[in-house]
Amino acid sequence: MGTALQDKVVIVTGGTSGIGEAVVRRFIQEGAKVGIIGRSKDKLDRLSEELGNSLLAVQGDVSQYEDNEKVVKATVEKFGKLDVFIANAGVFDGFAKFIDVEHESVSEAYDYLFNINVKGSFLGAKASVNELLKTKGSIIFTVSGASFYPDGGGVWYTASKHAQIGLLRQLAFELAPDVRVNAVAPGGTLTALSVIPPLQPYVKLIDNETKAKNIRKRNPLQIAMSSEDHVGAYVLLASDESRAITGEIISSDGGLSVRGL
Ligand code: NAD
Repeated sequence: MGTALQDKVVIVTGGTSGIGEAVVRRFIQEGAKVGIIGRSKDKLDRLSEELGNSLLAVQGDVSQYEDNEKVVKATVEKFGKLDVFIANAGVFDGFAKFIDVEHESVSEAYDYLFNINVKGSFLGAKASVNELLKTKGSIIFTVSGASFYPDGGGVWYTASKHAQIGLLRQLAFELAPDVRVNAVAPGGTLTALSVIPPLQPYVKLIDNETKAKNIRKRNPLQIAMSSEDHVGAYVLLASDESRAITGEIISSDGGLSVRGL
């Protein structure tokens, strides 16, 4: 049990699985109180039971403003304030190839994926910003290696993760000096990140072992990353140790930028 986040109040979207869940567990160990928003009632109930009074679980959809507002209100009501909003919920395109996809599905997939990955980030920031101004808090986006490089997904995912960087940069500029805005960019990680329905017919599902092998091959440190590998970066950005850091993206990707030719 550490104290890096003692008395911090944090919201994590998509906090019921993968990277979000690992962040929630570690943040609570570091002394934080955490509100989460997720879609699955079963998973929300299971986590609430396990993590008790340090957790507040709200069912909702990040692409709806009202649901973002609901988790912010409920969190402030229960824990008294909000220090950090982590926009982490996301969905994937399964590396679907643009050329193979019918134009109707191109459009449908765009709306589906951008509504969650991009609009969800916009709406989370909007719903939390007034509370964050009161605490001089911060926003953290979960972006991706796909925010910088090709072949971290198909065009939908890659474009959505690039779009989050634009949101991050402009918001960090507009919200200074009061609210810091940063991101963590994980590389390929062994989670159950789901492929959106409109693209499922175009995607081959691969087993975890092949996935691990592919991820290891692509990054110089040759790590098949797990969710827990990234949580330290979130702890730093959420803590007072990073009070001079804004507009910054911490890559936690096994060294994609030093891949070479
Ligand atoms: P995950 O599927 O375990 O986590 C995503 C969470 O978001 C899930 O709990 C899901 O239910 C939730 N979610 C999806 N749509 C939602 C919606 N509309 N409303 C509310 N919640 C919603 O997968 P993960 O890999 O932990 O993904 C977390 C973040 O990490 C995503 O933003 C993803 O793009 C990013 N990321 C993942 C990887 C990877 O390789 N797994 C790499 C880089 C970045």
